[in-house]
Amino acid sequence: MAGIYIHVPFCKTRCIYCDFYTRTDISPKDDYIEAVCKELLLRRDYLSEDIVSTIYFGGGTPSQLSYADLKRIFDVIYSTYPISENVEITMEANPDDLSIEYLESLQKLPFNRLSIGIQSFDDGELKFLKRRHTSQKAIDAVTMCQSLGYNNISIDLMYGLPNQTMDIWQRNLNQAISLNVSHISSYHLIYEQGTRLYRLFKIGQVRPIDEDLSVDMFSLMIDKLHEAGFEHYEISNFAKNGSYSQHNSSYWLGKRYLGVGPAAHSFDGNDRAWNIASTPKYIQSINKGSLALEIEYLDLNARYNDFILTGMRTKWGVDLIELEKLYGNRMKDYCLRNVERYVKEGFVKLDNQALTLTKNGIFISDGIMSDLMWVD
Ligand code: SF4
Repeated sequence: MAGIYIHVPFCKTRCIYCDFYTRTDISPKDDYIEAVCKELLLRRDYLSEDIVSTIYFGGGTPSQLSYADLKRIFDVIYSTYPISENVEITMEANPDDLSIEYLESLQKLPFNRLSIGIQSFDDGELKFLKRRHTSQKAIDAVTMCQSLGYNNISIDLMYGLPNQTMDIWQRNLNQAISLNVSHISSYHLIYEQGTRLYRLFKIGQVRPIDEDLSVDMFSLMIDKLHEAGFEHYEISNFAKNGSYSQHNSSYWLGKRYLGVGPAAHSFDGNDRAWNIASTPKYIQSINKGSLALEIEYLDLNARYNDFILTGMRTKWGVDLIELEKLYGNRMKDYCLRNVERYVKEGFVKLDNQALTLTKNGIFISDGIMSDLMWVD
């Protein structure tokens, strides 16, 4: 089983914290669509004829594409790749784009999962983040999607914002829970270099929140979402009734995926590759029939590190039998030696030949994972 990821590099406006490859000038959109279709054909052998079980339109803002744009891409995917009958097909969408007309047009396409970038239900926070929507627009967008029959909806939330209080965060969580969605992804705000937020931080106009408050917010989220019936299946992801993101789970479980579009990343089971992060250069190169990508050849140690990093983030953990099969006895012993003290101290559980983080371990997960990694 494998996945296809399509990177849509267009956004109407730029959010203050965003460091994804995206642009606000949408003028090369038609050329971009044609280039994506060509790349899908050029790289038809990348997944070695594995059945495609997930397709994910991410970005950027995929909801900036029209029905005709998306249909063109789907036509090429379906005529080129073997697609599973139970394929999960996700579209990331901005609440502001989700009008009834647009959603009705999407219903003619095979999307069966929507991931809506809400981030906050507090209008002050949304304004600060430079999001395009209001809290009410986000609520209306989710209820509209539900009324049209979309029942696999994920929403994104963000916490740890400057000036965010526990009260605001609690209200955001309550509102998210009351929407009755099946999946919530929630990330702490990061001050990424090169973003406007980072510049404001550097000149002292915003101050990161206190670390203890961040931990309290994370803890509140885990407890509240657990009470509301969500399973905490990955450090930043929560699902109801097993509605895990199949696509992201494939990343975490080390399956192959083909990333198409500028800046998209791919993994063929052994090596990672990423396309050039420039829409004009991407289009130019594809039009000449060549791929503008870089490849990172992963040696055994790097693959072991990926296996640990991705496995420990999930509720499935690191399977020691699989670890030994893939990386040998030496790596398994190394992992067991380094994890021993965390198991004794109750931060990691060793059960049925699998290592998983305990609730306390989640709070120090970065330290645990870095101690389990192989250092040359
Ligand atoms: S909509 Fe998403 S991809 Fe676009 S600028 Fe905002 S955070 Fe970045």
